[in-house]
Amino acid sequence: MRIAEIHVYRHDLPVLDGPYELALAEVRSVSTTLVELVADTGHVGWGETCPVGPTYAESHAAGAVAALSEMAPGLRGAEVLPIPLHRRMDGLLNGHNYAKAAVDIAAHDLLGKHLGVSVSDLLGGAVTDRVPSYYSTGVGPPDETARLAAEKRAEGYPRLQVKVGGRPVEEDIETIRKVWEAIRGSGMRLAVDGNRSLTTRDALRLSRECPDIPFIMEQPCNTIEDLQKIRSQVSHGIYMDENSTSLNTAITAAGTGLVDGFGMKVTRIGGLHPMRAFRDVCAARNLPHTCDDSWGGDIIAAACTHIGATVAPELLEGVWLAAPYIEGHYDPVNGIRAEGGYIERPQGPGLGVTPDAGLFGAPVASC
Ligand SMILES: [Mg+2]
Repeated sequence: MRIAEIHVYRHDLPVLDGPYELALAEVRSVSTTLVELVADTGHVGWGETCPVGPTYAESHAAGAVAALSEMAPGLRGAEVLPIPLHRRMDGLLNGHNYAKAAVDIAAHDLLGKHLGVSVSDLLGGAVTDRVPSYYSTGVGPPDETARLAAEKRAEGYPRLQVKVGGRPVEEDIETIRKVWEAIRGSGMRLAVDGNRSLTTRDALRLSRECPDIPFIMEQPCNTIEDLQKIRSQVSHGIYMDENSTSLNTAITAAGTGLVDGFGMKVTRIGGLHPMRAFRDVCAARNLPHTCDDSWGGDIIAAACTHIGATVAPELLEGVWLAAPYIEGHYDPVNGIRAEGGYIERPQGPGLGVTPDAGLFGAPVASC
């Protein structure tokens, strides 16, 4: 089976009750990029990549479209199998994992439909049909964040991520303390995510002033060197998120004991094929991780849920979805939703979701 046509679409997703506050960004709306691959068999596969604005990571929406437009002519006629496809993409464009991920996801969807199996089967096989999610609060006032934490605890979320940074560290510490009061004893796990924004001074203080609260510190500081600097000085576990920009970086972080786990994005690492290798490296090192994406709709959410369903349950920290923060679904029937803090693994061949392509308008690139 080979690629006969490639179409690229852009679609805007406004944030409900926005803006969503991150330490270094305010998110009011995100622009997602969708890839439709049509095979010479007539099967169609969908992929998606959605940077959360231009400052969260080294990616942006216009960059995704440009990278996909650059690669698209060279992908026509390519075999729809992950290894030859990634070799072909790497021969057409250096880097730009987040754009390649959309092609990778569409190829998995296409291959699953062709073979009549789900994407999780292609990735080795699901070990659950009920995948845990987690809720992520924006950077907010302590009392409001604690109220939200109690609400999400009551909804059944097994994990909560609290965003911090971009303000005096005293306010972050007060927020963490109030959130902990709202969830302690419930079994809900807690992550404190600085999104690269904290100085090592403030990261150390945050850990030292909350020694009794069992959170993990997710990407507190900006660089790998910062993480190395605080590593031996904090009693809390450290997870790497934004710094793990490739499989190589993640292997080094896992292999040198720099981190205790990862917040991992399927698009940042280049799609489901490298994500599968990442999952297996983490399993070999007994390191927990998430299977997230930054933002986006049902396509990327389905991809994250399928890979999440194949992770050893004791190592899966959850699959984060943008669905609770955005309105509507591409697939009104089988759209991906977190209910009671868990996501049902989509059934059927491929990703198991069928987008209403009419939502996306005319393609911005086709060949
Ligand atoms: Mg994070």
